[in-house]
Amino acid sequence: MTPPAGAAAGTDPGTGPATATPAGSGRRLAGEAPTGGGVSPVVGAAGADAPGASSAGPAPQQWAAAVETLQGLPRDARVLLICHINPDGDALGSMLGFALGLRALGFTRVQATFPGPMELPEAYAAMPGRELLVPADEVFTDPELVCCFDAASVSRLGALADRLERAPSIVLDHHASNSGFGTVPLVIPGAAATSVVVEILLDRLGVPLDAAIAECLYIALVTDTGSFRFDSTTPAVHQLAARLLATGIAPAEISRRIFDTRPYGAVRLHAEVLSRTRLEPAAARGRGLVWTYATLDDLARHGQRPYVLESLIDPVRATAEADVSCVLKQALPGEWAVSLRSKGAVDVSRVAIALGGGGHRLAAGFTAYGTVDEVLARVRAALDQE
Ligand code: 5GP
Ligand code: MN
Repeated sequence: MTPPAGAAAGTDPGTGPATATPAGSGRRLAGEAPTGGGVSPVVGAAGADAPGASSAGPAPQQWAAAVETLQGLPRDARVLLICHINPDGDALGSMLGFALGLRALGFTRVQATFPGPMELPEAYAAMPGRELLVPADEVFTDPELVCCFDAASVSRLGALADRLERAPSIVLDHHASNSGFGTVPLVIPGAAATSVVVEILLDRLGVPLDAAIAECLYIALVTDTGSFRFDSTTPAVHQLAARLLATGIAPAEISRRIFDTRPYGAVRLHAEVLSRTRLEPAAARGRGLVWTYATLDDLARHGQRPYVLESLIDPVRATAEADVSCVLKQALPGEWAVSLRSKGAVDVSRVAIALGGGGHRLAAGFTAYGTVDEVLARVRAALDQE
């Protein structure tokens, strides 16, 4: 479970321009009183003024259905929490924060997992709640409730998708491209992170924020807002951050661990991969494309695990001359995990969807097959359609 060292966190510019939430809009609508104590989160009936939200979220009945589902479960029920494959800070932080919340409510059989090998990037190896992680091939085959985190579609759950057919499910997410799967979808499109949704649900369940839960939700929030740099960083996001910091968590230590720590081999690997970056100013109808790629051989030469490549998109997308950036990360021979980012002119979620993936307007991805040249030819063609 403990992996080789490596920094993991690539920033996900996430949701793009969000409607600014007016300062001081920390209110609940009538009938939306929190069930829990403490400072209430910022959310309206539709979730549209949730931190970073830009459009309607769950109806009041959906929040109520989620609360009733959980309150109606015996405390020894088998509860399985699943986040997306290759989990990032938001996926893990949202899932583990909620897992700790369920434990606080008295649930005794809570398992948290994600598809693939149970290897945690070093950046997340010290996350509170990690003791609740169970490898995908050892989790409940017959859960009584499934909760999904930060997954826009069933395909992001890999081999664990079958659990959705065996039990009712609550889906917590913030992707505009979410397919609406699950028994009780709790999706706030445009929210800054899935942890925004988690905090609202925990509050409605009456779970007070403690430092362990807050650290998980904070890691999720800083990851998906790029340390509060992206447009999804509304006043309500900072109000949520304030509630989390008020529990006494240590932001500098967390940020160093999440963003600024990587092994020497990963530093050398990044340098090598960045040195083959290419700029195509005419691509994307003149808005510019910048790209690079990293192979399994690159990883092996530097003795690194694939997740050290997650942050590689950040220096690439700094390129001023390109609106769109693209990093191909080889997953298997002939298979690539492709990351796309936009500065705003191109909606890369549309490009990713056209190529079989998904994501947000400014941060998206897909799985591709073939050579680097073949995959890039497809990316260029899809960009020309936008
Ligand atoms: P990243 O480039 O950081 O891996 O992913 C950026 C965003 O793109 C993620 O938040 C996720 O929403 C989306 N994404 C990445 N890869 C895939 C994929 O293979 N399929 C889908 N549906 N979405 C993806
Ligand atoms: Mn997310």
